[in-house]
Amino acid sequence: MLVFILNAGSSSLKYQLMNPETTEVLASGLCERIGIDGKLIHESNDKKIKQEIEMPTHKEAIEVVLNILTKGEEKVIDSISQIDAIGHRVVHGGEFFNSSVIVNDDVITKLEGLIPLAPLHNPANIMGIKIAQEIMPGKPNVAVFDTAFHQTMPASNYMYAVPYEDYKDYGVRKYGFHGTSHYYVSNEARKMLNKEDSKVIVCHLGNGSSICAVRDGKSIDTSMGLTPLEGLVMGTRSGDIDAGVLSYLMEKKNMTAAETVNYLNKKSGLLGVSGISSDLREIIEAAASGNERAQTTIDMKCSRIRKYICSYAGSLEGVDAICFTAGIGENADLIREKVCDGLEFMGVEIDSDKNKVRNDKNREINKDSSKTKIYVIPTNEELVIAQDTYKLTKAL
Ligand code: ADP
Repeated sequence: MLVFILNAGSSSLKYQLMNPETTEVLASGLCERIGIDGKLIHESNDKKIKQEIEMPTHKEAIEVVLNILTKGEEKVIDSISQIDAIGHRVVHGGEFFNSSVIVNDDVITKLEGLIPLAPLHNPANIMGIKIAQEIMPGKPNVAVFDTAFHQTMPASNYMYAVPYEDYKDYGVRKYGFHGTSHYYVSNEARKMLNKEDSKVIVCHLGNGSSICAVRDGKSIDTSMGLTPLEGLVMGTRSGDIDAGVLSYLMEKKNMTAAETVNYLNKKSGLLGVSGISSDLREIIEAAASGNERAQTTIDMKCSRIRKYICSYAGSLEGVDAICFTAGIGENADLIREKVCDGLEFMGVEIDSDKNKVRNDKNREINKDSSKTKIYVIPTNEELVIAQDTYKLTKAL
């Protein structure tokens, strides 16, 4: 079976062609600057290519990809008909979806109803689904949600302390994101622990960052909220902030509510505090050459993560494993060391040498004496999307 995995953003499209039974990835890539000028980065047959190619809309972008998959040197299949199903990453499933679903008209109506909660993401995701339906008629499409894994959170953790009507009338609550990654990584951790009743904390640290407390395989709390703005200090997002800052900044900087939220989403976080970049590598470099603001930025990033780890260890009544994943979690040994340093009181002892080893495998980086395991687990959201798509469509 072959699954075509699509992750449609507002001007981008990530894709993979995968065999979910063998987990073999036949091709992967990214279309960027859709509607602007168009750029394709594609990998197949052990070759990576970059092309400037016109893509006025997502439809042309998908056509470009299907073309490269079926023709020329990069070809991996003879025809589109060899694709059995399409798996879509969908950001917001609200309270409707606690697992992946086969897309039908009712699913699309529900996704459209959720646009106010994810105005930047859901429209692009819906567009990706509709174009796939048009270009590959008759093939099943499956939606895999960023929010679904967190639907097991208890009300005490997903409710905000605002009047209850706001939850009932407008859906104001914590939904959480990165669910596919938190599911994958916590599940890998459970296998490594070889323990069914496990207490796992997953730190997904990329440009967007979130943390999740997972009890016996179920999310019980997570740091992102109604939107991905809440929680950790991220590349350009502030994470947790006193809501009073919003009205204060609106007044001082003469911004509207939407402009202020955009400011907290796009101009804050690592970028805003450091004044250097949203890319942690550049901040680490600056700190190493004595830039104090860069050092404060790193300290803030780590301090917030530690605060959540301690809080979630309390919620879980202990912790068997702390897992690091995504760009920063998988690559930045400095951040992992700083986060764990000082947590020895709760049985967390990182091994500095093991921590420095770089590879793309699941690995344990704690000392042998550590009561809590510390794992680095490269995330694989595409694999979850492909396997969910396979499970739901194999009997069709
Ligand atoms: P996204 O959320 O966009 O998928 P990624 O998971 O790719 O993000 O993570 C991007 C982040 O990972 C960037 O901040 C980048 O600086 C950071 N990163 C990648 N490699 C390293 C490294 N070796 N050291 C520190 N940070 C790194």
